[in-house]
Amino acid sequence: MPCEVNTRFVILYGSQKGQAQSIAEGIAVEAEDHGLVAELSCLNQSEKYNLEKEKAPVVFIVSTTGDGEPPDNALQFVKGIKKKTLSTDHYKHLCYALLALGDTNYANFCNCGKTIERRLQALGAKQFYVTGYADDGVGLEVVVDPWLEGLWKAIKGALSKMASDKVDPLKGPSVRALAITDSKYARTASYSASDEGTTLSDDGGAPHVPLSSLNVPALPPPYLHVSLQDVDSREQVRNDVADEDIPIERAIQLTTGDLVKTSLLLELDTSAYPTMTYLPGDSFDVFCPNRATEVEDMLCRLGLQDKKHHQVHVSLNKDTKKKGAQVPSYIPPSISLLYLLTWCLEIRTVPKKAFLRALVEHTGDTVQRRRLQELCSKQGATEYNQYVRDPGLSILEVLTAFPSCSPPLCLLIEHLPKLQPRPYSAASSCLKHPGKLHFVFNVVEFSACSGRPVGRRGLCTGWLFDLINPGKPKCSGSHALPKIHVSLRPKCSFRLPSDLSVPFVMVGPGTGVAPFIGFLQQREKERQDNPEAVFGETWLFFGCRYRDRDYLFREELEGFVTSGVLDHLKVSFSRDELEMEGNEVTTSVARPRYVQHNLLLHRQQITEILLKKNGCLYVCGDAKNMAKDVNDTLIEIIKTQLQVDQLEAMKTLAGLREEKRYLQDIWG
Ligand code: FAD
Repeated sequence: MPCEVNTRFVILYGSQKGQAQSIAEGIAVEAEDHGLVAELSCLNQSEKYNLEKEKAPVVFIVSTTGDGEPPDNALQFVKGIKKKTLSTDHYKHLCYALLALGDTNYANFCNCGKTIERRLQALGAKQFYVTGYADDGVGLEVVVDPWLEGLWKAIKGALSKMASDKVDPLKGPSVRALAITDSKYARTASYSASDEGTTLSDDGGAPHVPLSSLNVPALPPPYLHVSLQDVDSREQVRNDVADEDIPIERAIQLTTGDLVKTSLLLELDTSAYPTMTYLPGDSFDVFCPNRATEVEDMLCRLGLQDKKHHQVHVSLNKDTKKKGAQVPSYIPPSISLLYLLTWCLEIRTVPKKAFLRALVEHTGDTVQRRRLQELCSKQGATEYNQYVRDPGLSILEVLTAFPSCSPPLCLLIEHLPKLQPRPYSAASSCLKHPGKLHFVFNVVEFSACSGRPVGRRGLCTGWLFDLINPGKPKCSGSHALPKIHVSLRPKCSFRLPSDLSVPFVMVGPGTGVAPFIGFLQQREKERQDNPEAVFGETWLFFGCRYRDRDYLFREELEGFVTSGVLDHLKVSFSRDELEMEGNEVTTSVARPRYVQHNLLLHRQQITEILLKKNGCLYVCGDAKNMAKDVNDTLIEIIKTQLQVDQLEAMKTLAGLREEKRYLQDIWG
């Protein structure tokens, strides 16, 4: 008797920045080509799915955010499945596959996915396909692409198995009979490029992929309908975010000379804004617009310069088959085109392959089309990484390299994510600076490369830099500085120990020192207010390139040492040739170049604070290198000090993290 198979499966996603969502949506679209019916929901749409009764295969696509936390729209779900009251067979009817997205630059890689998986298994669910752990640090597609390729066979296998398990020889199958075949599967169009002209010059990126046959992804039809109405929307103001317009009171450049990144301190006057009350350790979002020149360039590329004040209407294409299709929630109604490109869409986004694929259809020149096809093809993965992803080319920079490409506005809206605010850590304490909020930032520089003829600054830091224009005299004290949109970020666990007697270690090179300035200012005030109290020992490991160029807050830090607020200040200079440590001149061989070297030098005291005195260790700053190196060094320290093996040392560190005694506030 033929096996009769149900075709339905469920896709659930939890997504912070839209990547997990877009992968989930891609699966839902592709399902049809495989003769399958996908039911797509976000994890927080609990009214749309019911795992308690679900018999069909369930595919989870989940990202991880912050310090290993679930994305906002998966929080409730994760909380729910963690309940201790659930029995070990709660999900024994469930079979699942899981794709976890994460970034190995951060601690707790793919933690949300791992948590969900752990709980599903503890509750009896069965896995029908190997779990994928995709790393944004090296490119999600390295894992995502092969995982997606194998998924279909796995789903079909799971459905077939369910059908055969279910066949009742007396009653026969109750489900609709349908053979699942690959006949409709036309996802990859085989594109023979060998007969189409020659190659592109290096400004468009020379094709290095053999041009025999490319697997170019299929193109989903547009799902948004966009029209422009000739209503002048010039008066548009930003009212879609719960932020405050806070005046900048002071701007100070903290670094001097070249060979160092430019660091600036901004002081905001928050006295008139009660919602801006913060504690040291808090961070807040700065809402910056896209650069006016880039918005103009984009309008030019769209051929819409003369319509920039027209009102934009975005709706769903009536006949769209895209599962879960929605008008992006971050596009408010009745906005002008100028406002849309200035405040809503991240036009600096590095275009994903799907976006490049869509651009092919709007590119006139054959050679350029072929190059785009190559970049989005399976065979062009390395090229894509080298030419687009690694140098961080923005969509505008890509368009510049493909002059014959004229994308429609709807394509941009479909593919560009929300313009994200940039978070910054408070570098002050309200106790020391009532009504003020300080923060420090490095001006990010993107150097010129083959796809970017001229270097540029980071979006927000470049914007702030231009706003305060440190070259001009008004920088030092005049009230002519502008206001910026700011909002406090909720949920912060990066806090001083509530018990004043607990010792703590702070590791914050470069601008990573920011929250520790707040901590120490707070501690200074606490010491004044509680002269009788016993205060735990305090350590700060700071690092920079040169003592006389980028030693941020030097005077203030040395002042903390003099007043006894900071017991140990350990500074490493990575580029100074000879360095004085106390009275000894250390040679470049022996001197600690980076914070982790200094940590190693003081391994005994660190171990004592963390493992004997119940103390805390805080790390703030660069996630890509520093935080990893510090983490590895801590493992090394635990290994040698406790005489345990690597695994045991890792467990000990993980335990400290669990107890919130090893805390990170890192970015990159
Ligand atoms: P963007 O235009 O957004 O570009 C930066 C992005 O490009 C980053 O993803 C980076 O990895 C990448 N990038 C940078 N240089 C290159 C390059 N040469 N080539 C390719 N890619 C590159 N920053 C501070 O300076 N001080 C703080 O106190 C601070 N606190 C933070 C707190 C939190 C909780 C978080 C999450 C981040 C914090 N940041 C802080 C980082 C800050 O939010 C911004 O990311 C940073 O200022 C850059 O923003 P931007 O818009 O100028 O750069």
